[in-house]
Amino acid sequence: MGALTMKATVGRRLCSGVFVREGVPLAPAAGPARVRFLRHEGVQQLRRAQRLHVRAQGELAFFIGEPLSSTMPGPVAGRGDPTLKSWNSIAAEAAFGQVTSPTPIDPAALATSTRALQAAVNAYNYLADDPLAEIAHATLHAIGRLVGGIHICEIFKEDGRWIDTCPVSLAHCRFGLSAGFDGRWVCSACQVDFNSDECPHIPGDTFVTTAGETQFVGSLMVEGEIDEVSLVACPREPLARFFAIEMLPEEMQEAVEGGSIVLTGPGRARCLRCLADCTGFEHDLEWLASAGSGHRLFKASRAGRHE
Ligand SMILES: [Zn+2]
Ligand SMILES: [Zn+2]
Ligand SMILES: [Zn+2]
Repeated sequence: MGALTMKATVGRRLCSGVFVREGVPLAPAAGPARVRFLRHEGVQQLRRAQRLHVRAQGELAFFIGEPLSSTMPGPVAGRGDPTLKSWNSIAAEAAFGQVTSPTPIDPAALATSTRALQAAVNAYNYLADDPLAEIAHATLHAIGRLVGGIHICEIFKEDGRWIDTCPVSLAHCRFGLSAGFDGRWVCSACQVDFNSDECPHIPGDTFVTTAGETQFVGSLMVEGEIDEVSLVACPREPLARFFAIEMLPEEMQEAVEGGSIVLTGPGRARCLRCLADCTGFEHDLEWLASAGSGHRLFKASRAGRHE
């Protein structure tokens, strides 16, 4: 399923984000139907994240030659923390594809952990206001450490600006994008207009797809145009969020001095934040949109396609 993405300057920062997901029903706007919808989607993503996490650990253990659960290092406090050495040796094994045994590491095993992290981020985005939020949050950090540990989380300077792309860090920025549409909406179960006699479905109920999946009945946009996109604290589409946010020079400097980001070369740095314990969430919209600029962001004509 594709997504529409955009890149724009928000306040003082260059940001990129998803503002529409294509081919999926829109989450109900509010009320018990929304709560049920978010719980359903969130639990699916959380299960997927946990399943892939176990599989990723198993696949890595197979190549490293001992159970990863017994050797998996803990959180890293910063650049000088000795735990980082343990992570680095695992990363080195993964990078060179050679371990104590001469069996090369299957790249697919490394990809599993990345998919697990994406599912964990999605799960948290659905479950942030659910009683399961804490479990989703802990899962996000556990998988984030594995991915940050074995893949090395890198951030780069593009056209003189440091762009934060760390999935764990970005998941802690609690705001997203909301698109205004002018379009035609149909029932996601039967693809017919809700107001038509032919559609027997009620939004918020569930139905079983031809593939055997249980899905919620919701509004699906089949044709339409996007009028505008705004920065919001709580996007109706929970996955409409930023996947890149510029770090201001003073923020980058502070992170480097604090040891949570390490400069590794010209225009490149290693992020250790996803290996660390949680430092909390950013909920303040004004942190992103500087006062006075408003929250209206872009026109659809500047949008691009992602994936
Ligand atoms: Zn229907
Ligand atoms: Zn990171
Ligand atoms: Zn956290």
